[in-house]
Amino acid sequence: MSATPEARKAGETHRRGLMFVLSSPSGAGKSTIARSLLESDRELMLSVSVTTRERRPSEIDGVHYHFISKKRFLSMREDGDLLESAEVHGNFYGTPRAPVETALSNGNDILFDIDWQGTLQLFDAARPDVASVFILPPSMKELRSRLERRAEDSAEVIERRLQNARTEISHWNEYDYVLINDDLDQTFQDVQKILCAERRRRERNLGMEYFVDQLQQEA
Ligand code: 5GP
Repeated sequence: MSATPEARKAGETHRRGLMFVLSSPSGAGKSTIARSLLESDRELMLSVSVTTRERRPSEIDGVHYHFISKKRFLSMREDGDLLESAEVHGNFYGTPRAPVETALSNGNDILFDIDWQGTLQLFDAARPDVASVFILPPSMKELRSRLERRAEDSAEVIERRLQNARTEISHWNEYDYVLINDDLDQTFQDVQKILCAERRRRERNLGMEYFVDQLQQEA
């Protein structure tokens, strides 16, 4: 007898869902990398956060964020509807709990574009299921010019984001992986490789036991 194709399929696909976190200071390239990752990988779903900040002209409600009032945010947080939440640049952000739980129970992997405060809360809630990547800018000068080129924020907001970047960067060593984004394509490829390796971690591959059982019974 040899291991059946079904056993092999179970081995390769029956896996715990992965919570894949990307963090960086604003302007370090994380959102572009997240977008490319979602386009190239149909098994990965984005966790769409709620936020109380103003929508930028390029953003779509329900796609980039759910834009909600502060009152609504506070009531969601109070009711335990947020898996994690934080105040960033004077606005509130949070991850709605229900979509994440549904996606994980369906075996999907989820991408989180959240800050260090949220990442630490996810570690507390579900450390074995979380893999985290921190993306650093090549220099503060480059970070400033990327924020200015983006031209979606006022000068005052850019200053606040640069100030906040220093705090965000100081948390790099709480992450599993760290990358310097001086070449977007290369950084994207590195993130893809990390995701690929994390998916293959032995403890996530529950179905492999069944496949290995069959392998060992082969004549
Ligand atoms: P932005 O306003 O530029 O879209 O995001 C500002 C920061 O908030 C980014 O570092 C982003 O990763 C973070 N952020 C976005 N959504 C969430 C969230 O749901 N929770 C937490 N903790 N941070 C978030």
